Amino acid sequence: MKKKSKATDCVHAGKFIDPITKGMVTPIYPSTSYDYINTEIQAYPRYFNTPNQKVVSEKLAILEHGETAMVLSSGMAAISTVLFALLRNGDHAIFQKDLYGGTYHAILVEMEKFGISYSFVDINNENSILEEFKSNTRLIYCETPSNPLMKLTDLKMVSAIAKDSNIASVVDNTFASPINQNPIDFGCDVVIHSGTKYLGGHSDICCGAIISSHELMKLFWGTAIHFGGSLNAETCSLLERSLKTLALRVEKQSQNALEISKYLEKNTLIKKVNYPGLPSHPQYDLAMNQMSGYGGMLSFELNANINEVDKFLENLKIFHTAMSLGGVDSIISTPAKTSHSKMTARQREEAGISDKLLRASIGIEDSRDLIEDIDQALSRIKVLV
Ligand SMILES: *Cc1c(COP(=O)(O)O)cnc(C)c1O
Repeated sequence: MKKKSKATDCVHAGKFIDPITKGMVTPIYPSTSYDYINTEIQAYPRYFNTPNQKVVSEKLAILEHGETAMVLSSGMAAISTVLFALLRNGDHAIFQKDLYGGTYHAILVEMEKFGISYSFVDINNENSILEEFKSNTRLIYCETPSNPLMKLTDLKMVSAIAKDSNIASVVDNTFASPINQNPIDFGCDVVIHSGTKYLGGHSDICCGAIISSHELMKLFWGTAIHFGGSLNAETCSLLERSLKTLALRVEKQSQNALEISKYLEKNTLIKKVNYPGLPSHPQYDLAMNQMSGYGGMLSFELNANINEVDKFLENLKIFHTAMSLGGVDSIISTPAKTSHSKMTARQREEAGISDKLLRASIGIEDSRDLIEDIDQALSRIKVLV
């Protein structure tokens, strides 16, 4: 069958037509108890095989170009399931050093307890990966674009190293979303999403997803039923509804983010803009190769002292200062005070995350209104010249 475009898949892929009413929308099946006689499968929410779970998983598998998918109760449920399914006592894993804070902490706190060793590496540097590679290395894990500096990881390079040693490459694709990047196309084995972000897209559901081959999914399923991070039918239904507009939302968010980063880059009150869609981004070529859009996330630094940065945030009228990302509303945050507050000032400085760095998740509003909002907020602070 000819491949459909993403926008069409968002609406139609995995579609379920209720045999009784023939309604357009998948009914919500809240049952936790299903007949087991004369049925092919024994359905149960924590087995990840109830109707609403299956319908939305199928849509996600198609959107990420994977064989199969599983939806879970959070991004961290997906991440912990994948890590503990692939790793066991005595194994070693390689992680990108600038990972999402929750993942970073989970590794620090949980891995050693189970006798698993790990290395954090500069994932864009092939030698830095190879130097840490050991005979017991079982997986390479990365995130691209990264949070909050929007650095990219060469997915083809990472998957080639993993393939060479017959180990798994795992990509957290939350920031790009399946609309802008499909790591499986570049040879990666496992894709993870915090569905709380772009997949849900309205800042009102918490969920996660794993997309992979059937073979690997058997392994993940076996661990997931023990960890118990299943997703209820109502949230599956909300996620399915959200995914129908995923392409529409992400395309608008990406277009807005590009326009805003161009505006910021030209503005002398701004010291630095990090956005993979800008030709000035050091990995712009890589962005063009592996992304089909550059996403709704960007970060920048003001040419002002820290008190003025706080004033700038207070002056904003449309942008909310809030945590999390990926919703239809534009939000902005100070990573040093939110997502990266658990790092020491020294660790942040080493990672290049200044206390004045601002991270924005651009929504679907009119970009002219968003630019005007930033402009008026900037005009009311003292800048350094
Ligand atoms: C938010 C986030 C997660 C964790 O997802 P939850 O749904 O909060 O558990 C993992 N990875 C990235 C990149 C994220 O932004």
